[in-house]
Amino acid sequence: MESASIAIVGGSLGGLTAACLLRDDGHDVRVYERSSRELEQRGAGIGLLEATHRYLTERTGLPIADVSVSTSWIRHLDRQGDVANENEHTYRFSSWNRVYRQLLDHWDSDRYHLGHEVTTVDQTADETDGARVVLTDGRSVSADLVVCADGVGSTLRQQLQPTAAQGYAGYVAWRGMVPETDLPAEINQQLGDAITYYVYANSHILVYPIPGLDGSVAPGERLVNFVWYRNYLDGPELDDLMTDNRGARRDLSLPPGSVSVHHDAEVRAHAAARLPPVLATVVERTEELFLQVVYDIEVDRMAFGDTCLLGDAAFAVRPHAAAGTAKAAEDGWTLSKHLREQPTVADALAAWEPGQLALGQQLIERSRRIGRRSQVENSWMPGDPEFIFGLHAPGN
Ligand SMILES: Cc1cc2nc3c(=O)[nH]c(=O)nc-3n(C[C@H](O)[C@H](O)[C@H](O)COP(=O)(O)OP(=O)(O)OC[C@H]3O[C@@H](n4cnc5c(N)ncnc54)[C@H](O)[C@@H]3O)c2cc1C
Repeated sequence: MESASIAIVGGSLGGLTAACLLRDDGHDVRVYERSSRELEQRGAGIGLLEATHRYLTERTGLPIADVSVSTSWIRHLDRQGDVANENEHTYRFSSWNRVYRQLLDHWDSDRYHLGHEVTTVDQTADETDGARVVLTDGRSVSADLVVCADGVGSTLRQQLQPTAAQGYAGYVAWRGMVPETDLPAEINQQLGDAITYYVYANSHILVYPIPGLDGSVAPGERLVNFVWYRNYLDGPELDDLMTDNRGARRDLSLPPGSVSVHHDAEVRAHAAARLPPVLATVVERTEELFLQVVYDIEVDRMAFGDTCLLGDAAFAVRPHAAAGTAKAAEDGWTLSKHLREQPTVADALAAWEPGQLALGQQLIERSRRIGRRSQVENSWMPGDPEFIFGLHAPGN
């Protein structure tokens, strides 16, 4: 179709990737982001799958090695810290921030509207005639297409799909990063070229290197990132965990600096008592722990007239396939393709929706199964190919 006006709600990796692609196709695109400042350092490390970096590598010529760290091994440790199992497998890791910065560098700042929180999206009476987003200050913006990329807590999903299935997975991801310069050389040596797992009863932790805060990917100048899944009962136990150090109950995450003193101490003590020493050291030397609650969220529609849901605003999946940002980016790539091929926005969304629903459904099922096997059934055997990261399938 010819040039359309497009409003994208949410300027994180999903929204920005879609924005860049649709702008390149000749559309008139604007991004509305609720945060009043450019986003920073959220999500820390990410397993970097092809779709996440495809825009940067294909369209801007950025060498992948400039934004990511490569590792050669998937390694499992035993309780003492000896290697229990290892398989040669190449992964790439980056940080949320590193990818975001690069995408933002290729976006027009006067079309990135910070401090613009969208409250609702109105379909016009005629569904083929665009949609209108309403901002918290009462202003509104009309566009031929509205893309809702407002993430796991999506306000617009709640409006468009109030019955979307949403559930707490039963566990959270404790996270942190330590500069390699703060770790003993022998630990960097042991962890530097691998993703390192320790799997024990109803829990597992994974550790991998990511670029340093200054973007450096040189060994010795990077960060060591961990993600540690621990079970908490829904109700008072989770409420207590999610009450921050100022006494406020948070829903989705506890950012760095907000974890309560007693939970911070408990996590460090648990690491010392239960993890192999090398991994316990990484947790103990983390200055500020933070956490994200793990949810399963799934929709049965992603297209609504001239409006669509993209990325975590549609399906928020458990992180075990390391594919959340890749799924969000893939939603954007396929949207761009269908808009090029179809005569109207509504036709494009109708053609786009079935494939993206299928992608979200298979990913949520696969991630749920991995979570169940590791956090509940304890049936994760090191070396099992099902646990290899991938968007469409393990390793793909
Ligand atoms: C523990 C954990 C580990 C993970 N590890 C990985 C990994 O290794 N690899 C990977 O690819 N993915 C990983 N993910 C998933 C990944 O973080 C998400 O899938 C990804 O961030 C989704 O991108 P998004 O753009 O759809 O949404 P988000 O990144 O959530 O962005 C939504 C944006 O919308 C804005 N917004 C929200 N509401 C409004 C509003 N009303 N108006 C305007 N703006 C609004 C927000 O401020 C935000 O900027 C992980 C997730 C978790 C929890």
